[in-house]
Amino acid sequence: MEDKHLLIVGAGLVGSLLGLRLLQRGYKVSLLELRPDLRSSSQSAGRSINLALSHRGLRGLELVGLRDKAMELSVKMRERMIHSSAGQLMGLAYSAREGEYINSISRKALNCMLMDAIDQLDPKALQFESKLLDWNPQQQSVQWADQNGIVHKLDNVILLGTDGANSQCRKLLMEQSQKLRFNYSQSYQNYGYKELTLPPGPGGEFLIKKEALHIWPRGHFMMIALPNPDASFTCTLFFPYRGEDSFEILDQPDLRKEFFDRHFSDMADYFEIFNEEYEKNPIGHLYTVKCSPWSYEDKMLLMGDAAHAIIPFYGQGMNCGFEDVVIFDEMLNQNKNWLSCFQSFEKARKINSDAIADLAEDNFLEMRDRVADLDFQKKRTLEIKLEKEFSDYFSKYSLVTFRPDVSYHDAMQLGRKQDEYLLQVVNNEKDIDSINPLILIEQLRALR
Ligand SMILES: Cc1cc2nc3c(=O)[nH]c(=O)nc-3n(C[C@H](O)[C@H](O)[C@H](O)COP(=O)(O)OP(=O)(O)OC[C@H]3O[C@@H](n4cnc5c(N)ncnc54)[C@H](O)[C@@H]3O)c2cc1C
Repeated sequence: MEDKHLLIVGAGLVGSLLGLRLLQRGYKVSLLELRPDLRSSSQSAGRSINLALSHRGLRGLELVGLRDKAMELSVKMRERMIHSSAGQLMGLAYSAREGEYINSISRKALNCMLMDAIDQLDPKALQFESKLLDWNPQQQSVQWADQNGIVHKLDNVILLGTDGANSQCRKLLMEQSQKLRFNYSQSYQNYGYKELTLPPGPGGEFLIKKEALHIWPRGHFMMIALPNPDASFTCTLFFPYRGEDSFEILDQPDLRKEFFDRHFSDMADYFEIFNEEYEKNPIGHLYTVKCSPWSYEDKMLLMGDAAHAIIPFYGQGMNCGFEDVVIFDEMLNQNKNWLSCFQSFEKARKINSDAIADLAEDNFLEMRDRVADLDFQKKRTLEIKLEKEFSDYFSKYSLVTFRPDVSYHDAMQLGRKQDEYLLQVVNNEKDIDSINPLILIEQLRALR
């Protein structure tokens, strides 16, 4: 592979992992990051405070030797804890197998860990408060301004765009849209989100069960909560913008208390805290971005959310971006030039990022509505039983979350077939204990 200077735009989660891996491989790498250094500022890393890290993301961290360190920063989440409107609790395990759980990790802590590792290899690689000003694809040159406003020119560089869902690099590709026949779609959800923090109890204890992802499914909206190592929880309210139960209504302070008491009765004692946070915190927006191609000749490539932003309901956006880095690393091994590397990367990833985008949209409905449904709960119980008894059975959730050896696309196809089949079974059979697992597993194996 021709030795080029690689300029990564965006040192968020994916850009930092990518930069670290490329430095480990011996490339000359610079990373431009618009924001100040997270490690010396009190600002958050943007968007969600914490994230669910699972096996695909862990594979990316393993590649750079940071898996164990990331696990030390995480809180394990072994089950979904469903909170009913009446305040009853029901735990639904993510998997019956040892080692199959998801991990709650702080976005900022994870990003800082990756940046520290970059600094160890090249303390000059990360450039904060820096802005890409101009890109000339013909000459492969870029101009960028550093934090003092000094303009630098670099020739013969490859741009790697990891600048997130609202990517400037993607916009640069769009400017070449005639030449590239660039396709682009962006679809907003009618739902936004607001983060609210549930602090630790007076003795520093977790106020709700620690090792769980908590869900308050309410049909047309929901709240979730992920634990943090300091015993707080980051709760996220996913809510329609308008309508009967919506941000439009909750923005009226006098209606808020009654709403919280009605829908989150088991959290009623913490209303004052939530209310303060509600006033302070902004509403975030949720949208899916699909585009293609992701590259311009051998001169620019998009990765992570810049190439494929998805809504967060499978907890896979970052995991998918980290998997991009793993696959890109494989493509560097398999290809002799940058052009074929970029093309084979997109060929391998596009079908899979489209699949996880679609799965995330399906899962929103499942989380806010179906988890409270009796047939869904029976299906989950049956699946846990199957996973316990048969080492070759993986539910759709497990295929997506715990099987990085199965692509998102294959996980989607098999998972959907299994779901359809099992829902028919629980529909027809009132008592799931009377179902013979040996017969059922044979029927499910036949779907593969
Ligand atoms: C509410 C919510 C919850 C989520 N939960 C999960 C979860 O549980 N699990 C999961 O896997 N994923 C989750 N995600 C998705 C995850 O946040 C993203 O997929 C992930 O952050 C993508 O990483 P990235 O590096 O591609 O982009 P980003 O994290 O957005 O990083 C982009 C970086 O580029 C910088 N930048 C932007 N423009 C420029 C520019 N012009 N020049 C220089 N720098 C620039 C930004 O400052 C930022 O640092 C969630 C998302 C949301 C919104």
